Amino acid sequence: MTTDPTAGATRNPGGCLQPVLLRGRVDHLDGATGELLHRYTTVHEPGGVLPIACKTRRASQCPPCAEDYRADTYQVIRAGLSGGKGIPSSVAQHPCVFTTLTAPSFGPVHLHREKDGQLLRCRPRRRSELCPHGIRLSCPDRHPRDDPLLGEPLCPDCYDYTGAVLFNACAPELWRRFTMTLRRALARQVGLTNRAFAAQVRVSFAKVAEYQRRGIVHFHAIIRLDGPAGPTAVPPTWATHALLTEAIDQAARAVHLETPASPGLPARTMAWGRELDTRAITTTGKLTDARVAAYVAKYATKAAECTGTLDRRLTPADRLVDLPVRDHARRIIAECLRLAKLPGLEPLRLARWAHMLGFGGHFSTKSRAYSITLGSLRSERATYQREQAIAAGLLPDLDSDTTLVVSDWHFAGRAPAPSLQHKGGAG
Ligand SMILES: [Zn+2]
Ligand SMILES: [Zn+2]
Ligand SMILES: [Zn+2]
Repeated sequence: MTTDPTAGATRNPGGCLQPVLLRGRVDHLDGATGELLHRYTTVHEPGGVLPIACKTRRASQCPPCAEDYRADTYQVIRAGLSGGKGIPSSVAQHPCVFTTLTAPSFGPVHLHREKDGQLLRCRPRRRSELCPHGIRLSCPDRHPRDDPLLGEPLCPDCYDYTGAVLFNACAPELWRRFTMTLRRALARQVGLTNRAFAAQVRVSFAKVAEYQRRGIVHFHAIIRLDGPAGPTAVPPTWATHALLTEAIDQAARAVHLETPASPGLPARTMAWGRELDTRAITTTGKLTDARVAAYVAKYATKAAECTGTLDRRLTPADRLVDLPVRDHARRIIAECLRLAKLPGLEPLRLARWAHMLGFGGHFSTKSRAYSITLGSLRSERATYQREQAIAAGLLPDLDSDTTLVVSDWHFAGRAPAPSLQHKGGAG
């Protein structure tokens, strides 16, 4: 028996702009006799194909599908903060924080700065120095939020493009090490061995990557302490906000990794930036569960395109000078391609991820016990749609224990996007 690729799909694939077209059939057979009880075939569909939503998470590729993804992500994140969808509401009492792990500086860039609703000067300096290229390393301007200058280096020739690319490439591993170090830091603070700690507390995460205007990723993470069984279990009384916040601080400052060395490129140590922002998530006040869930869900549908880079993978036919990107992004992409050729740096796969400015990780990830999964939300929806279809007489109401479902599907292409120019291929 094969899985049904159309599970959860509807005849009208949710307004998808680039649906996947399938040709095939689904037979419902009597498990005992093999008698054909019902057959669905795409032969009777328009063009003989069934369009299925592309289900991309990327708003730049298919806004309607990305909107579904955003809404589902919101539900998943929110359930992990305040309960719902099978997670008990007592989870809201567990210590839980929202933290931002930033990237270090790789050179001065133009900044949007604001205090109490007032725009502040970008980089005011009374006696500003000149860089070796004769550029003043200060900026008296007040940049509004949509200023195209934001994130641009004051001097591109001084900017450490190598460091910026290596940081993006190492960020997923840096995050992995951070989660391990955090567990150890928590155990040490309460005087437990790692094993004894793990028997009493489970640390759950949900994180999302965001590109800053300067083209470097940083991570926003929800970190929660549960009892050993996850969100249904009460954590010990010593597991507090204060303990969690202190351990995050220790772990974030301790974690580092060495980049591979290559002839002409010594190994470098990568670490998080000094700026660290950890705040408690509450059900009232400024940083509420709803706000955090909305924030994480919004970034889950974005990729690097908001920094003015490409929305697709580079191909050998692309010429760097012709790419429709801003110069800063072009320099980062060029550095990815240069470093990709250095012996020793192959594991970073920088050519493959050049359009992502070196970052090859996931945009949104959750530890297993954080909440329900996107998949369980989708299958809940599929069940509902199946029941609707049965009620409308479109599907037979057959006993699922005695009926065999045999599907045979073939990929029949992709419908062209009507309004978006789809370039495809991007991860
Ligand atoms: Zn779509
Ligand atoms: Zn400026
Ligand atoms: Zn310079």
